[in-house]
Amino acid sequence: MQLQKRESLNYPLCRKCGGRCCQGSPGLWIDPQRFLAIFFAGKPLPLEQMRERLPALGLVLWEKSGVPMPAPLTLVNGCAFLDKDGCSFSVFERPCQCLALIPDVETLAQSEGSLCRLPKEFNQEICQQKWQDYWQSF
Ligand code: SF4
Repeated sequence: MQLQKRESLNYPLCRKCGGRCCQGSPGLWIDPQRFLAIFFAGKPLPLEQMRERLPALGLVLWEKSGVPMPAPLTLVNGCAFLDKDGCSFSVFERPCQCLALIPDVETLAQSEGSLCRLPKEFNQEICQQKWQDYWQSF
């Protein structure tokens, strides 16, 4: 899965915007192997163990779709990892969807909401499919 390097991670634009995307809903880790490498030294964890260990990391499982997917905790103001200087995750750790989002300068002209775009290979359906395949591997 390749990020469109020239388009995503536009720090000056994100700084001006203040992270409207992060104030809405956090991004997800699309790739289970990447997620496990970041947080569990690559060790595969079954669902019950994942459920037990995520809260200590400030993470939760989104389960409404029927496929559990790890995500940053959401607070009333949005993602719990958004602080005054931006995302508190390093680029290495940051959710795949957050890294893939393509900023749109037109967002700054709007009073609310975001026009930033997620490439289709990083959408929710792909994420669900990858995590479903992962859970079924146990
Ligand atoms: S993890 Fe970081 S980039 Fe992603 S929504 Fe939270 S603060 Fe924003």
